[in-house]
Amino acid sequence: MPPTTEEQDEQFYRDTEAIAFPKLDDRQLSLLEPLGQRRLLKRGDVIFKAGQRDLGLTIVLRGELEAVEQRDGTEQILAIAHARDFIGEVSMLQGTSALASVRVISDEAEILHVPAAELRRALAEIPAVSTTIVNALIMRRRRLNRDREFAGFRVLAAADDRDGHLIDDFLDKNHIPHRLVDLASDQGQQLSKRFRLTNRDLPTLITPAGSPLRRPSLREVAQVAGLLRPLARENETEIFSDLTIVGAGPAGLAAAVYAGSEGLSTVVLESYAPGGQAGSSSLIENFFGFPTGISGGDLTWLAQLQAYRFGAKFSTPAEALSLRYNADDEYCACIEIEGCPAILRAKTVLIASGANYRRLAAENREKFEGGGVYYAATALEGQICRNETVCVVGSGNSAGQAAMFLSDGASKVLLVVRSDDIRKRMSDYLARRVEAQKNIEILYRTEIRQMLGGNKLEAVGIENTRTGERREIKTPAVFSMTGALPCTEWLPAELERDDKGFIRTGATVAGAPAWRASKHQPTPMETSLPGIFAAGDVRSGSVKRCAAAVGEGGMAVAGIQLRLASRNNRKDN
Ligand SMILES: Cc1cc2nc3c(=O)[nH]c(=O)nc-3n(C[C@H](O)[C@H](O)[C@H](O)COP(=O)(O)OP(=O)(O)OC[C@H]3O[C@@H](n4cnc5c(N)ncnc54)[C@H](O)[C@@H]3O)c2cc1C
Repeated sequence: MPPTTEEQDEQFYRDTEAIAFPKLDDRQLSLLEPLGQRRLLKRGDVIFKAGQRDLGLTIVLRGELEAVEQRDGTEQILAIAHARDFIGEVSMLQGTSALASVRVISDEAEILHVPAAELRRALAEIPAVSTTIVNALIMRRRRLNRDREFAGFRVLAAADDRDGHLIDDFLDKNHIPHRLVDLASDQGQQLSKRFRLTNRDLPTLITPAGSPLRRPSLREVAQVAGLLRPLARENETEIFSDLTIVGAGPAGLAAAVYAGSEGLSTVVLESYAPGGQAGSSSLIENFFGFPTGISGGDLTWLAQLQAYRFGAKFSTPAEALSLRYNADDEYCACIEIEGCPAILRAKTVLIASGANYRRLAAENREKFEGGGVYYAATALEGQICRNETVCVVGSGNSAGQAAMFLSDGASKVLLVVRSDDIRKRMSDYLARRVEAQKNIEILYRTEIRQMLGGNKLEAVGIENTRTGERREIKTPAVFSMTGALPCTEWLPAELERDDKGFIRTGATVAGAPAWRASKHQPTPMETSLPGIFAAGDVRSGSVKRCAAAVGEGGMAVAGIQLRLASRNNRKDN
């Protein structure tokens, strides 16, 4: 008989116990001792409360501490720490709000408290302690996510409430432990009674500290979760950085890791959630090093933790609204940020704001993203389509190429075209090949209206817009090839782009006015404005793949270091 879910959970907790709760040895304690302060405590003393942020590391030297989740008048003990144990969870790395409270339960206790800044330095510079601590923090979060009793943040909403689902998605993509509670459930009814909530108060976010936030905006959600970091101190009108990265998809995250590890003061602005497009991919199978694939959310979350470890400062949601450029200033870029009264001044900027694929306006499309709806046709997707009927939507060259490529293995390819002519947007040679290919059928004046299936796509409903005729087609895959729009609307006009709006870099901008006036050449990821770089999907000619974006992020940092060095030389001379 296969093991029950409870048995699997028990096995998981047993297997991971040693990683999640290691004892620090004498050497590790002696390395941490100079970074912190010893404190004597007595029974009942509170070390920190749920909701507090920027916590340091608490190491128990003597006595006993317990971590508890207080929920609706009851308490759940999450962990008990004895001598040589340390208290903490991933929120310490992220700098987000603590999910539980910690207090002393022995008559006396002695702790070593390492402040947040010192902890981050230790994690970046002392591998002898960082491996043990970081692995433990990550494993504790995994165990917490699996714990059905643990609540974290709770979003109380009616089942069909769009705003409730938006908060759920926002917390999910930002890796904040939470539960979506349906108002109609027993728990939902109890919560609405306890907090005296009416329909007008929904959705309501209930924090781990037990405070209800009625109809919060995403900014307010980010604030209580500790995601929205105040980049400027009170009364500060300017913030300074060596490097500002705009966008925390794979390109921005990779750059944050490399820049942080090279000691550059790095600020990362992200308008929704780190991870970008990759964060919404359920399984990335072509990223090297993960032979059975990895979820895009996990991959980018680990990258984010790595970047935190190296000291990159993140703020979410923080959209870059505009960029002003002044070549003569050491801090050549001034960036205006959503909701921030101070101006961010940067010596160098990496634009990693990606692209938004045009999405099909078909019912249920969102449900099948990555599980039936694809934006690229590679060998991997080709395998899914072997001997099946598949749909390719679009009439440009990318749609034609995808149709030809897929026709090799698929039994039939339906090219779904809105207009009545593919030659308006597709190169003539390609259009001829598509028309001649026996297993490609072009459906003119046709649109996909609906997507159907369980966990994976099984069928689509299409409509002929001329006749109004509707029919259903069995298919495991729709390839949406209707183009991508680069996220560049916030950038100044003098930043050169290609005819589709993607940012030009490297040799293609060597003739730009700023470079003609300079004795330097642009590095491969550098734009027409020296010191401003672009990487990933937003860059003209990029491959639109996770690994490519990561590589470009890393390459950009090499160019950024060169530019910072040449600026410093100019200052010294
Ligand atoms: C559903 C799906 C599945 C995919 N599957 C695969 C796969 O299996 N394998 C693969 O190799 N590739 C896959 N891709 C493609 C891959 O995810 C992208 O190529 C990659 O994410 C590009 O990374 P990026 O960092 O350049 O941009 P993005 O991932 O687009 O990230 C850009 C980030 O910038 C932020 N941003 C935008 N404007 C601003 C602003 N003004 N201020 C602040 N922040 C801003 C966005 O919110 C976003 O988080 C997939 C894409 C999708 C959509």
